[in-house]
Amino acid sequence: MSHENCLFCKIAAGQIPSTKVHEDDEFVAFKDIRPAAETHILVIPRKHIETLSNCSENDAPLLGRMMILVSQLAAKLGVAYTGGETGFRTVINTGPGGGQEVYHLHAHILAGPRPWHRMG
Ligand code: ADP
Repeated sequence: MSHENCLFCKIAAGQIPSTKVHEDDEFVAFKDIRPAAETHILVIPRKHIETLSNCSENDAPLLGRMMILVSQLAAKLGVAYTGGETGFRTVINTGPGGGQEVYHLHAHILAGPRPWHRMG
């Protein structure tokens, strides 16, 4: 399940320090070390999946729960869209062509002034 040389597997396992904002049996969320926005969180499954392109129909429940967690965390962080001016951006970079640098599936949650300033 966890890959020996994967940075995010190590973060999920607590072997590399991170500032976690959420942790459960299936997912971990932590602050991006090089924030591109006032709020910049990464949400990862504990399961080592390299990219979104490696996902199949079997991963649909996991991906669905991951998106719901993104929404719940946005609410917890005070950036959910509630009908006013707030909101957030969710980004999943996939492969070199998509600017992916860490090959363990992760969703970026970006919010605050100009959250799209650096998309990677
Ligand atoms: P990009 O760097 O183009 O956004 P990714 O989508 O693969 O590529 O995102 C990897 C993210 O992981 C980057 O935003 C980077 O700042 C972040 N990151 C790298 N190492 C750590 C770490 N040890 N702790 C927290 N975030 C990290």
